[in-house]
Amino acid sequence: MKIMVAVKRVIDYAVKIRVKPDKSGVETSNVKMSMNPFCEIALEEALRIKESGRASEVIAVSVGPAQCIDTLRTGLAMGADRAIHVEFPGTLYPLSIAKILKALVDVEKPGLVLLGKQAVDDDCNQTGQMIAGLLKWPQGTFASKVVLDDDNKVATVDREVDGGLETLAEINQVEWEKDMWMLKSTVVKMKNRQVQLLALNDQYNASTDLRLNQPRYATLPNIMKAKSKPIKKLTPQDLNVEIKSDLEIVQVTDPPKRKAGVILSSVDELIDKLKNEARV
Ligand code: AMP
Repeated sequence: MKIMVAVKRVIDYAVKIRVKPDKSGVETSNVKMSMNPFCEIALEEALRIKESGRASEVIAVSVGPAQCIDTLRTGLAMGADRAIHVEFPGTLYPLSIAKILKALVDVEKPGLVLLGKQAVDDDCNQTGQMIAGLLKWPQGTFASKVVLDDDNKVATVDREVDGGLETLAEINQVEWEKDMWMLKSTVVKMKNRQVQLLALNDQYNASTDLRLNQPRYATLPNIMKAKSKPIKKLTPQDLNVEIKSDLEIVQVTDPPKRKAGVILSSVDELIDKLKNEARV
């Protein structure tokens, strides 16, 4: 089984974001860019599945400007076998990305697609769900644990939901209509049908970042080795995907500044403020 992992190049999570003076977007020139942290976790999971002997190849895929090559080289240094760069210089939105990823799935035929839960630049949290929809594949979003059965036909995914952990058991390739279970049920058993295909979104956010895995650092020898691993270059046109969007960014602004807090001298004062100012 091949595993395809979508890795996005984003502003490094530690960089303080600055809005451009003309409010058309955020400043990206001379800003440190990195692999989206959620995608690092997705890639780490793919590598662990391969190391456990359940996958034959891990392919890292990135869509975006020429500099995505750096993100892909990081992925190759972490351990991906090869990479695909779909070059597009302009702004891309989740549906376009999902269409491109679907086209790549049609060519590469992976058994498993792993994506980050969300990209930390736009926080969309849409691409995984959209690609599963386009492919009509089952998906497990916000996964904190992924277990594949012995012949990769069935997956069990623990997902973190507001009320705790939800287990999607025995996720198989099913007809899409029967697939609406995910929203309704906590434990789901599906009938086994031929080869398992699962689109999966890994769980990662500030409070749960270590629950699926801890991504590895690329070692120096692996960084050197990555230089000779293949990166295929394509364009959306090569994949017959037309990039268009109904979305238009009207203006990007900083969030309003928070007012400074006050230190109260007593509980009585707090109760008074809650009652008379906050009207709790
Ligand atoms: P989003 O829906 O934008 O929050 O992104 C969710 C996930 O989709 C990311 O963590 C990536 O795995 C994947 N993704 C989004 N945009 C791209 C891109 N330009 N290239 C590769 N993968 C992407």
